[in-house]
Amino acid sequence: MVCLNHPDREAVYKCAACGKPLCEECAVVDEADVYCSDECMQKGIAAKSRSSYIIEDTARNNRKRGVKGFVTFVIILIIAAVAYYFYMQNKEKIDSHVSEKFNTVSSEAKSAKDAFIEAGHKKAPTDSKYRRQREGIVNEGKTQKR
Ligand SMILES: [Zn+2]
Ligand SMILES: [Zn+2]
Repeated sequence: MVCLNHPDREAVYKCAACGKPLCEECAVVDEADVYCSDECMQKGIAAKSRSSYIIEDTARNNRKRGVKGFVTFVIILIIAAVAYYFYMQNKEKIDSHVSEKFNTVSSEAKSAKDAFIEAGHKKAPTDSKYRRQREGIVNEGKTQKR
């Protein structure tokens, strides 16, 4: 490979932007990178700052996400704390309300169960073998208890 501008010279560098082969004399050096011209150097610098901007942007977004996650966590914590505080302030009211509700539900369930058993008793044939057996078991139980 020879220099693009000097066909008699061996190329020792390659333009970082366009890839042209360059001799020592033609090389335009910027920090670690070698370019064929100022134009290419500008392009190269622009590309580098763009990529560093992307890296910075990603880091900024990550930070933002981190902050967002933290804020969400704090909000949840505050809601939980407020709910807990509210509960502690109204503990007796809430507890009595809850147990009241629970008692209503369980008594409803109990009466429904009783009604169901009652209906089952009524439906059962009075003279069936099953009924006699059942009563026998119940009577046995009563006898054993005494
Ligand atoms: Zn170039
Ligand atoms: Zn040259």
